[in-house]
Amino acid sequence: MEKLLVVGIDGISYTRLKKLIKNGKLPNIKNFFSDKTYQPLKSTILPTTPVAWTTSYTGKNPGKTGLYGFLKKTSDYAWEIVNSSYNKELTIWEILSMNNIKSIVIGMPISKCFHDKNIIFLPGKFSKNKMINVPPEIKKIYKLCPSNIWDYKEYKYYIDLRFSVAEYLLKNFENWNAFFLGFEHLEIAHHNLFDKAPQIIDKVYEFFDKRLGIFLSQIDSNIDFIFYSDHGHKLYKKSFNITSFLYKEKLLKINKKRKILYNGFLKKIKTIFKPLIPISFYSSIKYLKKNNMKSSDKLIETLYDQKNSKVYPYNNTSGNFIGIYINDISIKDKLIEKLKTLRYMNKKVIKQIYKKEDLYNGTYKDEIFDLILEADENFFIDPNIHNTFYKVISNTNISQHELLGFVAYNLPNQIKIESIKDIFSAILYKFNINFPDDIDKDCYICSKFKNISYHTYSNKEIATSKENDNIYKSLKQLGYI
Ligand SMILES: [Zn+2]
Repeated sequence: MEKLLVVGIDGISYTRLKKLIKNGKLPNIKNFFSDKTYQPLKSTILPTTPVAWTTSYTGKNPGKTGLYGFLKKTSDYAWEIVNSSYNKELTIWEILSMNNIKSIVIGMPISKCFHDKNIIFLPGKFSKNKMINVPPEIKKIYKLCPSNIWDYKEYKYYIDLRFSVAEYLLKNFENWNAFFLGFEHLEIAHHNLFDKAPQIIDKVYEFFDKRLGIFLSQIDSNIDFIFYSDHGHKLYKKSFNITSFLYKEKLLKINKKRKILYNGFLKKIKTIFKPLIPISFYSSIKYLKKNNMKSSDKLIETLYDQKNSKVYPYNNTSGNFIGIYINDISIKDKLIEKLKTLRYMNKKVIKQIYKKEDLYNGTYKDEIFDLILEADENFFIDPNIHNTFYKVISNTNISQHELLGFVAYNLPNQIKIESIKDIFSAILYKFNINFPDDIDKDCYICSKFKNISYHTYSNKEIATSKENDNIYKSLKQLGYI
């Protein structure tokens, strides 16, 4: 059977990639893509890591996957930080496995795997799953790239390690059909280095290319492949503070004592942040980490008085997009009108407003925000409270997500990838496998081809992860080694 290589790179900037390729800095990427053009890839709305990757693994919109950002609404006003275990849908490699297609999955962000018969699985960033069917010598050395690194040498080390693990498995488990290889490193470099040492970001890209070249030299150059990123990254110079805007419009109330409380931990320490100390989503994460909390632990976010506000934002930054919840439905049309007419220097601030029913369907639709704002591409939308709280528009300098990631692929001619949802269906189609009957039917292949067969995949078929060593033995029998 033919093989497929899928490389997923978190948060790569299409414009930076293009510039570096043009300047001859990424020779291996350029050669490998050859005449296969790389192009911008439309991410999910919101364009954030858990949402976009999960949609690419499942072919389903956030209303079906239940992942619509880093935070998940658990009851009316409580929130949890998500990880891969929140995705209850079958992933592409699980469906391949059910059809006896063997996969190696390494470091794909927020990936999960419970159907483990034909899979070697190493988790990626935000994954909850443990390693599955992984030889002990790899188990010992495999590591994710930490979020708190600034030094070029460290980026090199972690990129090199990921490729070394991939090369080892490539060599020792030749029997694979699909090889998924993920990288979180470039996204971390964008977030950490854009203002401190922007020139190092280019160097990280160049090292990535160099190391990729060595990896690709061990693979048939005519292999079918998909390279893609979940969203882009860009520098924003202006920010639109949605919280200030709603506050000024008297639609949102702020809690006098803004607290981040953790249920369970609350009994031990009650931490009360003084008003006007900037609290952002990321500082909440840091706070949780500092106090040894797990990402799945409950976070009660009380920045806004959500209950008594008419409108409040979803507190998760995502570039020039934001979701907002509406408690008082009678003000909805007026608010849309107000946002549409908002101008800065004679320019519209909000480019587009989506209603949730325009974008999402499925069992989780109810817990998703009611409106989604898309600002002009120069405006970062900030839901956080700062010292400059009352300012609606301010100058900023931040590297944040943008809607367009990138994709390059070498697949049978009839397959096209136009949005991130198409990754899933493109892979199934390549391997001639029936599509799940609850896949979003607006994917490229579903809408263009009428001869697709659908199948009801049952979650009951999913095996739980067992003792790795036992499965390692059974893997031998299945012909991986
Ligand atoms: Zn991402």
